[in-house]
Amino acid sequence: MYSQEIESLLKSKKIKVGDKILVSKGKSTYSGILMPRIELGDTSSLVLKLDNGYNIGVKFEKDTKIRLSQKGKPIRFKPAEMTARKDPNKPTVSILGCGGTIGARVEYTTGAVFPAFSPGDLIASFPELGDIANIKGKKLFDILSEDMTPEHWKVVAKEVVKEIESGVDGIVLMHGTDTLHFTAAALSFMLKDLPVPVILVGAQRSSDRGSSDNLPNLVSAVVAAARSDIAEVMVCMHANMSDNFCYLHQGTKVRKLHTSRRDAFQSVNVLPYAKISYPEKKIEMLRTDYRKRDKKTVKIDDKFNTNVALIYTYPGIKPEFIQSLRTFEGVVIAGTGLGHFPTNPTNDSFTKSVLLAVKNLIDSNIPVVIAPQTIHGRLNLNVYETGRRMEKVGVIGNECDWTPETALIKLMFVLGHTKDMNKVREMMTTNISGEVSERTEVL
Ligand code: ASP
Repeated sequence: MYSQEIESLLKSKKIKVGDKILVSKGKSTYSGILMPRIELGDTSSLVLKLDNGYNIGVKFEKDTKIRLSQKGKPIRFKPAEMTARKDPNKPTVSILGCGGTIGARVEYTTGAVFPAFSPGDLIASFPELGDIANIKGKKLFDILSEDMTPEHWKVVAKEVVKEIESGVDGIVLMHGTDTLHFTAAALSFMLKDLPVPVILVGAQRSSDRGSSDNLPNLVSAVVAAARSDIAEVMVCMHANMSDNFCYLHQGTKVRKLHTSRRDAFQSVNVLPYAKISYPEKKIEMLRTDYRKRDKKTVKIDDKFNTNVALIYTYPGIKPEFIQSLRTFEGVVIAGTGLGHFPTNPTNDSFTKSVLLAVKNLIDSNIPVVIAPQTIHGRLNLNVYETGRRMEKVGVIGNECDWTPETALIKLMFVLGHTKDMNKVREMMTTNISGEVSERTEVL
């Protein structure tokens, strides 16, 4: 994005990146295609691609005038032809595309970012993938992951099963990063007896940026899908500020914890399963408690009840807000500290307890599950009077160390199978896919 001033001027003149424009300043006029602002570039310098192919920056000042000279043509990629031949000595990895930054390709005339995905595209863009495995590819959706829904998860799960049944050795799912951990958790609950690894991968920075992480992330994900022995749903993403390794995270125990850093994804309350060095492509195991590859037949269980809310408690939260949640069939509250919401045990005159409102939900057969808004650590409702009151009214989740997102998805999954409060409680507190760690690791 350019500065607000430039962006609103461009908008008022209906000028978009890719259009040919004239920029006049003092006695000089420059003609060229408007490019996107370069990474870390000055927000008040327009970048123009001149007819001779060079880019220049023109500092936008008070006397700078901009005119549209020619609308840019919409540019479409022709998918590259897939030339790689199947090598019987190599494993086969199927790459399914769900959209997001990692699946986008940059058109270098205008700098526009296009969703582009086909096996040919992949091999053409990342030839080293072909050295690791025979690559199959299919585009499922072209969406940003903030637009993903449980309906998308079901499509993904079915496609994963189809690919596994076709005999591939591993699956990679290219996905936007915003909700990648939700999809990872959902697939972890849906796919039973996985015989091969299913790896979700994204990129924090698109391929037009010098600091893009899409190559190391995708290569490492394909390495993990082709060669690792872990037959689970996992997330493979950049591990540090350098480009030298990625982590392989357990699907129910990972979360995006930074808006923009490449090492935004971290395992929560557990160690990652493995480290994958780049460019060496070596897998170093960090844990041994995983499901191994086997010949089992994968099963799909996609019964979800999506009428579940996830909310944060906060100072001053109103009981009326909690009451208004009765239109949902289940509620997850991300509680403060050890897992609290206000119950006012000291009868403070300013404080409003939400305990009765929560009790009313539970009494109307709406389970209320607690998760930690601190993200890291285990819930403990035995320490303070607040926690003991919450336990007494039937809040579920004491001593669990799930993330709020995993708790939400688990509750959707559990409510897809039963409405009986006792069964909900039993299923919620029984591990289905490693979502609650047996012991607290000192990390
Ligand atoms: N908002 C984008 C998405 O989640 C960011 C990304 O692609 O990583 O799809």
